[in-house]
Amino acid sequence: MTINSLFPNYGRADISFETGEGVWLQGSDGRRYLDMGSGIAVTSVGHAHPHLVAKMKEAVEKVWHTSNLYRIPEQERLADRLVEHSFADRVFFCNSGAEANEAAIKCARRYHYVNGRPERTRIVTFTGAFHGRTLGALAATGVPKYQEGFGDPAPGFDKVELGDMDALKAVIGPETAAIMIEPVQGEGGVKVIDRAVLAELRRICDAQGLLLIFDEVQTGVGRFGTLFAYEALGTTPDILSSAKGLGGGFPIGACLTTEAVGTVMTPGTHGTTFGGTPLACAAANAVLDVVLADGFLDEVRRKGTFLMQALSGVVDSHPDIYETVRGEGLMIGVKCRAPAGDVTLAARDAGLLIIPAGDNVVRFLPGLVATEEDLREATRRLEAAAVALETNKDKAGA
Ligand SMILES: *Cc1c(COP(=O)(O)O)cnc(C)c1O
Repeated sequence: MTINSLFPNYGRADISFETGEGVWLQGSDGRRYLDMGSGIAVTSVGHAHPHLVAKMKEAVEKVWHTSNLYRIPEQERLADRLVEHSFADRVFFCNSGAEANEAAIKCARRYHYVNGRPERTRIVTFTGAFHGRTLGALAATGVPKYQEGFGDPAPGFDKVELGDMDALKAVIGPETAAIMIEPVQGEGGVKVIDRAVLAELRRICDAQGLLLIFDEVQTGVGRFGTLFAYEALGTTPDILSSAKGLGGGFPIGACLTTEAVGTVMTPGTHGTTFGGTPLACAAANAVLDVVLADGFLDEVRRKGTFLMQALSGVVDSHPDIYETVRGEGLMIGVKCRAPAGDVTLAARDAGLLIIPAGDNVVRFLPGLVATEEDLREATRRLEAAAVALETNKDKAGA
């Protein structure tokens, strides 16, 4: 396969998709695929959701862009709704997860600067974390292979081993501004952070006047059966970044903060040309219409439990291929014994799209509208993938 005009920075599969409906995609090869990856947790209410399609058609007929030089009613409405349904009092809109994290980092530093502690600039982050590819977010990520060849990482980040509370306490000093964490690591392999650890981070931040930042770019927007995962996990941050699922497939990111943090971002301190356009906010408002409808999130919780149990059954039946299941809500990782890349390929051959992650895991991040039958079919196809891999193994061994 040659795609010579593009940067070769992605390891693309040789397939594209023409149409979609719910959690199903029609492939260019004529086959139907069951999409349990949602374009990495982005198509949060599935493909071609009738409500999103209708709202976007309406929005496309109006103004596409006016800039943040003027009021944007759709943006104000979206911010009001996020504030009404979360801890936050203030919201800033941008276009991606990395940008949402950049805003979060800038807010944390600026907060201390405005409050007479300008030396507090350092952010504590964790091993295995993924916060994005811009230079600041990349320094927060701190996975050496992502940083290689891009010069000195941006200063001001202290990396701590996940769960090592002694190391965490040791690294906090007079220059620490904030602790930043994904409440469940996504790219790192669906690693659920212990609720007690999150609560302890909150206590440490409160005791030392630090800000707690949750990167909910992947976990947010209904996936845990709550609008944001922090509600399900029982610890509230001061700053939260959102993106992926927020626009249901239209690019939008958001940084949500408390009143005390958001209000330090006075005119001129931060901005972006494209952040919070009428189109992007129409998409996100339509997503919220679906996700916040009566009973929808209860269903997500119920389906999460169902998928977890169904996948556990498959894992137990194929111990040479799969090892364990973990996660919460509709963010589930299957840790593999076979290489996760091989499992992903075998799954695609079986008509199932899943996404490899760190720690040899494959991720299930289905659209939240997936039916129980869709999820049952997904587990059948994961089973078919295991059988195919076992058969290949036997052939190789024979
Ligand atoms: C995907 C992701 C990001 C980066 O988002 P982009 O939109 O790709 O910039 C940041 N944090 C987490 C937790 C993510 O999963």
